[in-house]
Amino acid sequence: MRQDCASVEGVEVDTRHWIGGQRVASATTFEDVSPIDETVIAYVHAGTSAEVDAAVAAARAAFPAWAALPVGERAAILRRVAEGIEARIEDLSLVETRDNGSLIRSHRRGVMPRVAMNFRAFADYAEHKLGHPDMEVPNRGHRERISYDPAGVVAIITPWNAPLMLATWRIGPALAAGNTIVVKPPEWAPLTASLLADIMHEAGVPAGVFNVVQGTGLDAGAPLTAHPGINRLAFTGSVPTAGTIAKAAAENIVPLSYELGGKSPLLVFEDADLDLAVEIAVEQFDNAGQVCLKAARMLVHESLAEEFTRRVVEGAEKLVQGDPRDEATDVSALISRRHFDQISGFVERALADGARPLLGGGPNDDLGGLYFRPTILVDAPEDAEIMTEEVFGPVVTIQTFADEEDAVRKANDTRFGLAATLVTGSRERAERVSAGLEAGTVWVNCFFVRDLEAPFGGNKKSGIGREGGLWSFDFYTDIKNSVFSPTGWKE
Ligand code: NAD
Repeated sequence: MRQDCASVEGVEVDTRHWIGGQRVASATTFEDVSPIDETVIAYVHAGTSAEVDAAVAAARAAFPAWAALPVGERAAILRRVAEGIEARIEDLSLVETRDNGSLIRSHRRGVMPRVAMNFRAFADYAEHKLGHPDMEVPNRGHRERISYDPAGVVAIITPWNAPLMLATWRIGPALAAGNTIVVKPPEWAPLTASLLADIMHEAGVPAGVFNVVQGTGLDAGAPLTAHPGINRLAFTGSVPTAGTIAKAAAENIVPLSYELGGKSPLLVFEDADLDLAVEIAVEQFDNAGQVCLKAARMLVHESLAEEFTRRVVEGAEKLVQGDPRDEATDVSALISRRHFDQISGFVERALADGARPLLGGGPNDDLGGLYFRPTILVDAPEDAEIMTEEVFGPVVTIQTFADEEDAVRKANDTRFGLAATLVTGSRERAERVSAGLEAGTVWVNCFFVRDLEAPFGGNKKSGIGREGGLWSFDFYTDIKNSVFSPTGWKE
């Protein structure tokens, strides 16, 4: 296998960095292993502080001209990026699926079109909606003009579970606002970031505006977070890594935006549409449960518990587990051997703590490899590790609640606060319960729906800040207030 290029499902992917509009090699490479069959699919260049320095320097050099472009011109280039993504949806889907084991059908129909939207929507927003009407200071006649100045170089660090989606959700608004970028993709799924660099180049994004440094968290991520040349740090990943990165950001005095883990609840009330509740529950095994927003803790009113549990088990049993390149597959493999072992450990300890498996609980012996069966646990004590820690795999628990107060208390009894979902037939209850839930996003009788203009982020340990619509521009710009006096003018 050549060391600077890989053919993945027939798609050529350059495995070098993309810095200052050029491919740049490192002295060493690391193996990129596909979770589908644990084979090495690429050797990816392993960046270190030298490549990070070069990328930040390229982004700094490109910043003045990109920031000075009229917003309409920047938006036009970003719309061409969106078109480039749309033209390559199949390539991007094939590569992402092979790289991280996520379902090809999700990419073709939902994820990759949304990746294009991450550019188109924020280009439109920046061009047509960003701004604030001038304010008049009462009595004194001063005019205050609020403007959104690009912040500079934005460092973006992303996880492996939805790498291109999560990167572009940051890259789109950051570029639209006039910033330049250095992105460090996840070492477990690094390839689509390289294809994005090709698309950016073809769309006419100037050299240095968008840079990719491949590598591990420690060798490439850490120097990027500590680099004095960055102006914003956008991180999506786990809480432990976030803690480490926060120290670097504190030394550097760089504003950061964190999108972190979760342990989200699904609340099913006695007046719920049970078909809908079961459908939402079974959906939680999507991407083998490797979804930050997943409702891992199911809470059901005791009057419905038996029927709900039976139907969720039946629904999960019917899920087809296998190769994610097959459109019929519902549940695929876990990202890595290390992650597989971690999830096995969580389940073993849950059983030792008293949880009872109604489904799954271990590897899928028919498939071997990294395929872990959809697992449903009941009777776990409230303070057990399985109830409190993020598992990030195809494992859910079901608990009961007695009444609304008990439901909200149990739902909020977590250090996380990313999302919560409730199913109820009562509008009044929906208003009351959603107001009481400690979560950045609450879904009522639906799941995983969100407009790009709406705010997204986590409460408690699930994150810092909000992005989406104007909230993205709040983070990726320096908001300036220019106060104009009514006096002192010579014309
Ligand atoms: P992770 O924290 O291990 O890694 C995330 C990224 O950080 C990777 O690119 C990694 O290389 C980098 N990194 C690791 N150590 C670093 C360091 N010391 N300095 C700088 N960078 C470093 O997380 P993961 O296992 O890749 O992803 C899973 C986690 O991400 C879960 O907790 C999940 O809930 C969370 N997540 C959150 C959201 C959200 O929107 N809130 C979305 C997806 C995933």
